[in-house]
Amino acid sequence: MSKRDYYEILGVNRNASDTEIKKAYRRLAIKYHPDKNPGDKPAEDKFKELSEAYAVLSDGQKRAIYDQYGHAGMNSGGFSSGGFDFGGSPFEDIFGDIFGDVFSGGSRRGSSRGRRGDDLRYNLTISFEDAAFGAEKTLQLPRKQTCESCDGSGARKGTRVQSCNTCRGAGQVRFQQGFFTMTRPCPDCRGEGKIIADPCPDCHGSGLIKKKRSLSLKIPAGVETDTRLKLNSEGEAGSQGGRPGDLYVVITVEDHPIFEREGHDVICEVPISFVQAALGCEIEVPTLEGKVSLKVPTGTQSGKIFKLTGKGIVSLQGYGRGDQMVILRVEVPTKLDARQRELLEEFAAVSGENIHPLGKGFLDKVKELFG
Ligand SMILES: [Zn+2]
Ligand SMILES: [Zn+2]
Repeated sequence: MSKRDYYEILGVNRNASDTEIKKAYRRLAIKYHPDKNPGDKPAEDKFKELSEAYAVLSDGQKRAIYDQYGHAGMNSGGFSSGGFDFGGSPFEDIFGDIFGDVFSGGSRRGSSRGRRGDDLRYNLTISFEDAAFGAEKTLQLPRKQTCESCDGSGARKGTRVQSCNTCRGAGQVRFQQGFFTMTRPCPDCRGEGKIIADPCPDCHGSGLIKKKRSLSLKIPAGVETDTRLKLNSEGEAGSQGGRPGDLYVVITVEDHPIFEREGHDVICEVPISFVQAALGCEIEVPTLEGKVSLKVPTGTQSGKIFKLTGKGIVSLQGYGRGDQMVILRVEVPTKLDARQRELLEEFAAVSGENIHPLGKGFLDKVKELFG
């Protein structure tokens, strides 16, 4: 199950543009193409892996699902968009891409100026039921936000950020070494191009401040341990106008005292007495949605599995639902009172089972064999 990350396979970062992805794929596909590497199994595998990664990342819709759910989202072949609302602002990116250039006078956000905020990871443990049915959770997460006292500038209210005199705001200084003119980050402003003479006391000049924030999160039904939910732009704030990072919520599902999960199926073991198994009976079986009755036919053997259709877990892609498998365990009594023993002995006699001599005979045989 250790499938490699598609971005890693193509050697591009998660923000790579379509063109970058196409270029990376082309370069690697040529390198590992079977025609160029006849009989080379590792190269052939690499080529297959590449093709799979490219098929997903070159398709906007599939890529979005992969970004949100990882490989789990790709498993069943159905790429429904799901329609989940993660309480974030999933349209911000689209808006920014379409309208950002118009409103910001042609400079793309975060590309030339400003630093993009860091991505955050939040580990969330949820119950078995919440994973099966989905849930709404409120997360309390500390993250760096734009400092309100200075509006993110880093300079004390009423003062201004000044352009660095040493580098004239470029952030880099040129120097001569032999025949070459070289550049290095400006030592006075550490490459920022700006000097904050009087830093904001709240954020100490960083323009960012750590704050606890509550965020409501809709967990879709069908998630499992290691499912990753991506919330666009809910990571840390960028600095100097850079766009915020993303938030990744990584799910851990708690064990359940009676249920186990196998893909979309729920498995549980139910004990019945040997009398119930022999005579047949109707028992109550727990399911994720309460008890249902189950007819156990006469003469049921231990380990027999009954399927409760549609009582499993909803698939994450929103189509279909698993089943519940009920495994019956027949229990033999460990203690009998005199009357019970009498009845069972009578039962044996009626069945033509000769209990005591058989037991004795078996012991004699063991003696014969092993002395
Ligand atoms: Zn400088
Ligand atoms: Zn501040």
